Amino acid sequence: MKAVIVGAGIGGIASALALAMRGWDITVLERAANIGEVGAGLQISPNGLKVLHALGVTPFIENKWFEPERIELRVGRTGRRIFQIPIKNQAQKRWGAKYVQIHRVDLLDGLLAALIARAGDVVQTDCHVTGYTNAHGTPSAICADGRMFDADLIIGADGIRSEIRAQMIGPDKPRFTGNTAWRSVVPMDQLGENVPPSAGCIWAGSSRHAVTTRIRAGRVANFVGIVETDDWTREGWSVQGEKSHALADFDGWDPIIQTIIEKSPNMFRWALFDRAPLKQWSDGNVVLLGDAAHPMLPSMAQGAVQAIEDAYILADTVSSAPSIANGCSHYFEKRIKRTANIQSISARNLRMFHRRGKLTQCLTYAPLWAVGQVAPRMLLAKNDWIYGLDPTQT
Ligand SMILES: Cc1cc2nc3c(=O)[nH]c(=O)nc-3n(C[C@H](O)[C@H](O)[C@H](O)COP(=O)(O)OP(=O)(O)OC[C@H]3O[C@@H](n4cnc5c(N)ncnc54)[C@H](O)[C@@H]3O)c2cc1C
Repeated sequence: MKAVIVGAGIGGIASALALAMRGWDITVLERAANIGEVGAGLQISPNGLKVLHALGVTPFIENKWFEPERIELRVGRTGRRIFQIPIKNQAQKRWGAKYVQIHRVDLLDGLLAALIARAGDVVQTDCHVTGYTNAHGTPSAICADGRMFDADLIIGADGIRSEIRAQMIGPDKPRFTGNTAWRSVVPMDQLGENVPPSAGCIWAGSSRHAVTTRIRAGRVANFVGIVETDDWTREGWSVQGEKSHALADFDGWDPIIQTIIEKSPNMFRWALFDRAPLKQWSDGNVVLLGDAAHPMLPSMAQGAVQAIEDAYILADTVSSAPSIANGCSHYFEKRIKRTANIQSISARNLRMFHRRGKLTQCLTYAPLWAVGQVAPRMLLAKNDWIYGLDPTQT
């Protein structure tokens, strides 16, 4: 069987690997001239890492990731900790794999190395796919330069502004959330004593929040700062903003946040749009995956992880279904509830981290603080349904 995968992002390469493992012949078509040159830190929770183990990616990335001690929520201005959940000593025994932080570029390099080891060089770059034909159950991907790629299965893994989705469902109708995400990475040795904690640390504030992590084996600090604003509507990994604007957005915040921004060589900026769950992910033998299928806000750190879950479950389902079209529909039924839930909780978390006014903040965060003091296991248990899933066993 032959699959053509549109997009060599995390979801596209993971699905190429998962299908190649089941004997499929693969071609990946990527619009960019080079793969994986952009991005910043990602948190990969145990549900994603279990798939990466099964795909044989771990040996290529384990010396590049960082294992945080905790997940924490802090007050952005004072740095005061609201709660913490132990992660490093809990993840393996509670959820069956580690919780790690990694640069997107390192993860993509590892996925690609594993794909090359298994299937050879199957990625064609500089190949912008503009749509597909789907006559008589044998679809073709159409490139901007006129080339056609026939396949038994076409996977649209072409990200948040998917052209495959646009043809399948109609024009995208995103709703601007009124938030933009600042992103940057800085070597830890440039931060003096203001290094971020060994945690996935969320810093909450009025109408804004930040997240700090460590990547590249702990040598680099990663910053995401999400701010309510209406002056920026561009989405993308490599869209740059002004550092002075980022500094103004986090003026008066904890020195760790201010130092990371000051020392950042570049500040990238990404407008956050909300998209409702779709009613279908496939059209015959053409199917969507990752951000193309269920774009989500980053406030649960699950977008890439869900793309990795999709990749494994899609490959498993289409390989054992009576027909490919049937396998694509069945994959949607298996995935839609979980991904729609995560989309909705991500949007809710964003609002929770941005509470305005001392009273509202107190009413939101005091119960979390109290649970963290008396029953921290309850905070761990809240994540069981996400992190505890083993997509390789569904
Ligand atoms: C601020 C921020 C923080 C985040 N943090 C996390 C996190 O901690 N953990 C996590 O799991 N997720 C996180 N995410 C989400 C995560 O980055 C995405 O969900 C993930 O990258 C989606 O992967 P994908 O393969 O579906 O799409 P993408 O990574 O967008 O890849 C799509 C690929 O398709 C290519 N392409 C696009 N159009 C075409 C075309 N027409 N023809 C050919 N190729 C095409 C693109 O060039 C790209 O290579 C975060 C996102 C943001 C914005």
